[in-house]
Amino acid sequence: MNVDLHCHSNVSDGALAPAEVARRAARARVAVWALTDHDQLDGLAEARAAALAAGMRFVDGVEISVTWRGSTVHVLGLRIDPQDASLAAALATVRGGRLERARAMADELAGAGIEGAFEGALDRAENPAMVSRTHFARFLVDAGVVADLRDAFRRYLVPGKPGYVPHRWAQLADAVRWIRAARGQAVLAHPGRYGLSAGAMDALLHEFRDAGGEGIEVVTGSHSPEQYRHFAALAVQYGFAASRGSDFHGPDEGAEFGTLPPLDPALRPVWQDWELA
Ligand code: AMP
Ligand code: MN
Ligand code: MN
Ligand code: MN
Repeated sequence: MNVDLHCHSNVSDGALAPAEVARRAARARVAVWALTDHDQLDGLAEARAAALAAGMRFVDGVEISVTWRGSTVHVLGLRIDPQDASLAAALATVRGGRLERARAMADELAGAGIEGAFEGALDRAENPAMVSRTHFARFLVDAGVVADLRDAFRRYLVPGKPGYVPHRWAQLADAVRWIRAARGQAVLAHPGRYGLSAGAMDALLHEFRDAGGEGIEVVTGSHSPEQYRHFAALAVQYGFAASRGSDFHGPDEGAEFGTLPPLDPALRPVWQDWELA
């Protein structure tokens, strides 16, 4: 079964509207699909309607930004209640400060000789309150400063580079608690992306599990095949369920629907107990 439980619309930093993302997933033969915008639930109603119209099973999702020991990590909430007022209020606090951060990022970029980044990023954000590094990256590509999004991050938007401004997101235990209170399952997104040492990864996985985290992403557009195997082994070792998702953001922006391998059958998928009949 083709299950894809991680992607973005222009409600956060994706390039397409929720209904367009749904149709793209369906065209790629996704059967069970979640929209997981960053710190936002606003796209879920449109996504659900379009998913059902296209014959897919729909899963309400979100991807919460977390600061853990100074690093940014992402926690997916799957099958959350999209009407949960406490979750919505908590996400609003996580989103807060993006505009101020964007101003600071643009000031830094101006210091590096790149003018107009604030306006450039905002022009590309459907919702100014959700302006993200991805919108800056698209601006830097369009302005001809860098060749592609990867280059934009590598040269300007990651720690140590001129356009990077640190930000405080949610606490790990809070994010998991909000998801569980909204009757969802918490899944650690793309653990291979955080560049953590083996010891730090062990600490993160223990803390996440103790907080009530139930699964980790194993097969994701952000992992290499070697990382599929590595995190499959860690899922088994820690007793986590395993998840699979493209992390699609837009056409020609890396991960695409329908291109990932299936989960190793030895793993327990996060969707094992879902009613998908
Ligand atoms: P923000 O929440 O504003 O810090 O932006 C984070 C987003 O930037 C992530 O959700 C990804 O979509 C994107 N991103 C982060 N690192 C990279 C990278 N190295 N290459 C491409 N996109 C990235
Ligand atoms: Mn993103
Ligand atoms: Mn992420
Ligand atoms: Mn994502």
